[in-house]
Amino acid sequence: MPLKIESFEDEFIDKICKESIDGLNIFYEINWVHHLPVPIVVKDRKSIDLLKREKTEPWVVGWSEGNKVFILDRNNFGSESNHKYSPETYHSLLKHEISHAFYRILCGGNMKPIWLCEGVAIFTSGQNREKRPVECFKEFLNFQEDGGSGVYAESGFAVYLLVKEFGKQKLLDLIKGLKSITSQKEFTELFIKIYGIEPTYEKFNEFLRKYSLK
Ligand SMILES: [Zn+2]
Repeated sequence: MPLKIESFEDEFIDKICKESIDGLNIFYEINWVHHLPVPIVVKDRKSIDLLKREKTEPWVVGWSEGNKVFILDRNNFGSESNHKYSPETYHSLLKHEISHAFYRILCGGNMKPIWLCEGVAIFTSGQNREKRPVECFKEFLNFQEDGGSGVYAESGFAVYLLVKEFGKQKLLDLIKGLKSITSQKEFTELFIKIYGIEPTYEKFNEFLRKYSLK
């Protein structure tokens, strides 16, 4: 069945996009003004599955491809996903997907490791505020090549702590450095070159003890 996309005006979405793009241009230090991310509101689960060409999990409510940002219609959010709708969470969700589009430019399309890509999107969209603070990092480094619902619990806080301890510039350097990375070993070497430490749970838990997450 062909997918029918209707065009419509949506001031709420337009406002979120504008605010997000302004904020993300500052964070990523790029000046993206042409061919800006285009929001595409997807009506229901069936349409998500059609667009993604697979049966998706109920937590999948948004994704980005190039400058296209797909998001589940907020009117069907409660019925077509396992998330609760609120204007605030919808705002940060859309900003999360737009952030991926910025990240993709900086990293030259190398979105791995997944924990870093998701962590930066969570951190920059303000979604850490909606999450239960991590008590002990023990999972996020498993998400190198593949994603999964588990990547969202810890990675945003891991990125927050990296920025807290070392500043934003090093994070941007790390993302830009991904362009030439082809393996986990090379990523670890890049990480060590930039931060002087290995990305281990032990190190991140050290930062966790040093800084408050709230
Ligand atoms: Zn994401």
